[in-house]
Amino acid sequence: MKLYEPSTIRAIREEFGFKFSKSLGQNFLTDKNIIDKIVDGAQIGPDDTVIEIGPGIGVITSEAAELAKQVIAIEIDKSLIPILAKTLEEYDNIKVVNEDVLKLDINKLIEEEGAEGVKIMGNLPYYITTPIIMKILEEEVKADSITIMMQKEVADRIKALPGSKIYGALSVAVQYYCTVEKVADVPRSVFVPQPNVDSIVLRLNIRDEKPVEVLDRKLFFDCVKAGFGQRRKTLLNSLQGVKGVDKSIVIESLEAAGIEASRRAETLTIEEFGKISNEVYKRL
Ligand code: SAM
Repeated sequence: MKLYEPSTIRAIREEFGFKFSKSLGQNFLTDKNIIDKIVDGAQIGPDDTVIEIGPGIGVITSEAAELAKQVIAIEIDKSLIPILAKTLEEYDNIKVVNEDVLKLDINKLIEEEGAEGVKIMGNLPYYITTPIIMKILEEEVKADSITIMMQKEVADRIKALPGSKIYGALSVAVQYYCTVEKVADVPRSVFVPQPNVDSIVLRLNIRDEKPVEVLDRKLFFDCVKAGFGQRRKTLLNSLQGVKGVDKSIVIESLEAAGIEASRRAETLTIEEFGKISNEVYKRL
């Protein structure tokens, strides 16, 4: 059975009375070529554990199971569970977990399963792409990489560099934890139902070492958020948006960090944000 064929999806819908849920971001892949690109992009080895977010009817799951030691697929939609039991019945190395990934303790799951070489992957529901990525990064999930499909505009923001109009808090946050590589461009035409956006697959390689050592991570991200929250303002003004930080602290910290007070957040590298927040930390 070729799971990705539109005729298979139609047959499954009829047999199980399955209805696509727009609110769960259900756009299923129908193109083998793209599925192969995602699975190849995840660089799965024979001893690895794949954690897949949102398996749908299992098109990526089954391909990943051919390569990995085991696949743990996390699916929120109860009505897909009996469908996955059927579509994946020939595999004994797949475990489907009926949970909301945003509420799941992924590190606990990894520990319980004795998983090693964890590769996270998935064709993410567009409506919660950023919260899912940030949850995995902030909880420091013990994984090597995250290979995920997302709306093109979000991917563009994630990989944006200083100086670009779309470089922002999301770019800094993801690039603080990961190096970012584009795996594939994906047109909207390869999904059913068809979404009204194009997609990109990115691989986020989780760094062993951060690009800058920050003394207080929360303060670092507060500075990033304050800077981009008022991106048209100079650092002198925008950084006063951080709780407890007044004008003199901003002036002294920028001077100590060797950064001009007239610059704007969108010109700063991650290292420069780190330097600034470390100087602010010393003055609080
Ligand atoms: N992997 C399949 C494919 O490529 O055809 C389906 C991808 S579809 C874009 C997103 C999947 O994520 C759906 O199966 C949806 O039910 C599931 N999903 C949505 N929100 C979720 C959540 N919070 N936790 C786990 N799965 C979720």
